[in-house]
Formats: sequence, C-alpha cells, structure tokens
Amino acid sequence: MTDKIKVAYAILTSCTGCKISFLDMHEKILGVLDKIDLVYSQMVMDYREVPDDVDLIFIEGSVSTDEDLEQALELRKKAKYVVSTGACACFGGIPGMRNFYSVDEILEETYPVGDGESTFKGPNELMPKVRSLPSVIKTDFNLPGCPPIPENFIAVIENYPNFDQIELPTKTLCAECSLKKVKLLSPIREFTSLKINNPYELDEEDDDLCFLERGVLCMGVATRSGCGGRCVSVNVPCRGCFGPPPQEGSEDQGAGVISAISSILPTGRLLTKEDMLGLVYRFSLSVITDLQKYSAVDEKEMEVK
Ligand code: SF4
Ligand code: SF4
Ligand code: SF4
Repeated sequence: MTDKIKVAYAILTSCTGCKISFLDMHEKILGVLDKIDLVYSQMVMDYREVPDDVDLIFIEGSVSTDEDLEQALELRKKAKYVVSTGACACFGGIPGMRNFYSVDEILEETYPVGDGESTFKGPNELMPKVRSLPSVIKTDFNLPGCPPIPENFIAVIENYPNFDQIELPTKTLCAECSLKKVKLLSPIREFTSLKINNPYELDEEDDDLCFLERGVLCMGVATRSGCGGRCVSVNVPCRGCFGPPPQEGSEDQGAGVISAISSILPTGRLLTKEDMLGLVYRFSLSVITDLQKYSAVDEKEMEVK
C-alpha cells in the first residue's frame, strides 16, 4: 500500500514543452517524487493504458483533433482531479491560432496540391476549431504559461487536493515588471512613439524603459502576471503566454491589448489579420472561439463538465 498521490501526465496537441518544464524542477523533483507515484506518461504509453484510479492528471495541449476530444473525455473519467497544463490546454495556445481559418484553408496551405483540394487524410480528423481543455471538460486547476513555471507544478503537488490554496497572481504583468515607466505615468497627447519598432532596432541605452515607451508592442498590459517577467527581464517583450487576467470581462486578451495601446502607439500599422493573429491572439484565440457554440461536442459528453 502507498499513500503517495497517483499522478499521470497526458498530452493532447502540444509540443511537449510543458513536460520539459515539469522536469525543470531540477533537484526539487526529488522532494516531489517522495509525494507522488508517476503511474502514466504519454511519452512512452498509449492513453488507453492510463489506470482507472488516478488521483491527479496533468493534461497538456489543446483539443484540436477528434482523438484529443475523445482522450480528454476519457481521462476526465479516470482521474479525481485534472490540471489544465500550459497555455495550449488553458487557452488553445499556439495550435489555436488556426481558428482564424477553416480546416480546408489550413490543409490547402499546408499540403497544397495545385488547383484542387488537398488530399491530405491524417490519422486524426482536425476539429473545425481548436478548443481549450476547460471548455470541453471540468478542470480543477489551470496552470497558465508557455510553458508553466516549474514552481507552479510543485505548488500543485504540495497543495493537493486543496488547489484553492494556491495563490497565483491575478494582476497584469505590468504590475510585476521592473522596467521603468516615464511617459506612461503622465497624461500624454501624442503617441509614445510614431513607429512600431522591432526589439533589435532599439537603443541599448534605453534597456530599462518599458517596451511600449520604446514603440515595441508588449502584451504585458493584458497578460496575467505570475511568470516573474521572464521575457521582459531579458529584454524581450511579453507575448502573452500567461493568458488574460482572470477577472470577468478580461477574457478577450487581444482586445485588451488593442484597447490599452490604441492611445499610445500608432496601432493602425498593426491591424492586419496576420498581425492580430501572431501578436495579440497568439495564445488565447481559442478562448474567443470557445465562447461560440461548437456542434461537434455532443451535449451528453459536455455533461462531464
Ligand atoms: S503551452 Fe507552450 S510549451 Fe506547453 S505544449 Fe503549448 S506550445 Fe508547448
Ligand atoms: S507593457 Fe511590457 S514592458 Fe511595459 S510595463 Fe508592461 S510588461 Fe513591462
Ligand atoms: S513575459 Fe509574457 S510571454 Fe514571457 S513568460 Fe511571462 S507571460 Fe509569458
């Protein structure tokens, strides 16, 4: 007999990077292994081999194919608690960017066959829209980030099963960003910059200034804090992987960014479909499309939620 937590780690449509972050606990993983039995890892086993009595399952990746959906519903039945792991699971993430297009457009672009339709027939049918995990099953805790920070994996294990005791920050990233705000702290009548810049165009002497003040689009204004500013602290603008802040009404991360920056940057230069897709909705487009009713999810299956 063991009183260790039976943990499984499953993967839907993902790059498996979240799992690498799990391993990035380094020596702290020894303390974690004292508390858990890792009973299943999808790296080496099929998901149908997940035991029926798992305590806690981390599910990484978005729900993008019919098999992903089947797997998510099946795993929900097998685990007492489900943790939505990483930006792809929590918000659709990078795979969710395809929600701007139809499946036919995606296949024709990826597997072009001249003038005709793509003849690609993959092992899994792509769902019409990529879904976030919490939109198809009940999840007990959501770990944002691309990937989540290792400390948050540890917090989930240490607080099991009282996940409400884990206090993830809820403000925007700007609240924990150490870069200086100068113009943004005073009422201004002009754009902080007349040009949208790439980070490599910046003067090094301004390294300690907020990116927006330097004319670089930074998603921190509409992104949940909690990563410790791991990009901005190494002079890379935030791309929003912690998703929108959890407050009601803040779900549309892209709209939040456009709204925040429209009076300080000449955003007209940015508003092409591809710019919107690659920047302001890079991680959370599925959250918006999740809100629309999705016919491929059977209503009975949704009752699992
Ligand atoms: S959240 Fe990032 S690291 Fe995790 S599976 Fe998605 S793309 Fe990979
Ligand atoms: S916009 Fe970006 S650089 Fe500026 S304070 Fe917010 S997170 Fe920091
Ligand atoms: S700074 Fe932004 S993109 Fe970078 S890890 Fe934090 S939330 Fe993610």
